[in-house]
Amino acid sequence: MDKNIVLLIAGVVAVLLLKLVLERQRRPRNPLFSCGRCRKTTKHDERTIGAWRAGKEKFFCGPCHRAWLATRPKPIAAPTSRTSQGGCLGAVLLLAGVPAGLLLAWLCR
Ligand SMILES: [Zn+2]
Repeated sequence: MDKNIVLLIAGVVAVLLLKLVLERQRRPRNPLFSCGRCRKTTKHDERTIGAWRAGKEKFFCGPCHRAWLATRPKPIAAPTSRTSQGGCLGAVLLLAGVPAGLLLAWLCR
């Protein structure tokens, strides 16, 4: 019985990992796209494939993307590189907060 539960959990983890790997390997059917700004036909790269996986339908070639990066207004509060850290920190705080809240509730009873 216990062995079956372990096998079930291992199976679920294996399926989730496989799904994650397949999702990472997913690529657009057409390796070429027409730039959303200059209309130049361009080959997908890691950046545009990442955007495609994120559900974007409009892609920009390298020069147009760099031009956009140079002209877009700079974020005041947090640069892009810190956003992922903030999300990670939020998850850590949430994971740490649940036991801490339970401990507080136990201490204050
Ligand atoms: Zn372009």
